Amino acid sequence: MTAYRYIVIVGCGRLGAILANQLSRQGRNVVVVDRDEAAFKNLSAEFSGFQVTGDAAELAVLRRAGIEEADCLLAATRHDNVNLMVAQVARTVFHVSKVIARVFDPSRQEVYDQFGIETICPTLLSADAFLAALARAPEAGS
Ligand code: AMP
Repeated sequence: MTAYRYIVIVGCGRLGAILANQLSRQGRNVVVVDRDEAAFKNLSAEFSGFQVTGDAAELAVLRRAGIEEADCLLAATRHDNVNLMVAQVARTVFHVSKVIARVFDPSRQEVYDQFGIETICPTLLSADAFLAALARAPEAGS
């Protein structure tokens, strides 16, 4: 795995906090941005990174998170529009080399591709997991 040294995570909900805790445990420099300060309670006591409160759609907030130093940004809110916008700004304005966005709507993945943004689609991942579980389950009546 490439050792990204400065990672900005947008959204400190369930997903963002898991990512922040794990990457911090791996010794990476992690900054988590959330517009709701209460969300930082999801971070573990061992989390050694920084927390920035604010709307990540604002350039000033991303700058406060040190985006100009970052080599990786993970857009992990539950809002496709927010994730797309932040990821796009990270790529085009701040030239962050690795940008990954959570996108629930599979039909929007193409838009992200056009901007060189990698996507993780929980909807498709869940569908795969359901179908795999179904394939393992014994057929009714057998
Ligand atoms: P979840 O609801 O568990 O998926 O977490 C989503 C998190 O993203 C919440 O803590 C929200 O406060 C946060 N969030 C949503 N939109 C923004 C935004 N524009 N800037 C920063 N944080 C956001």
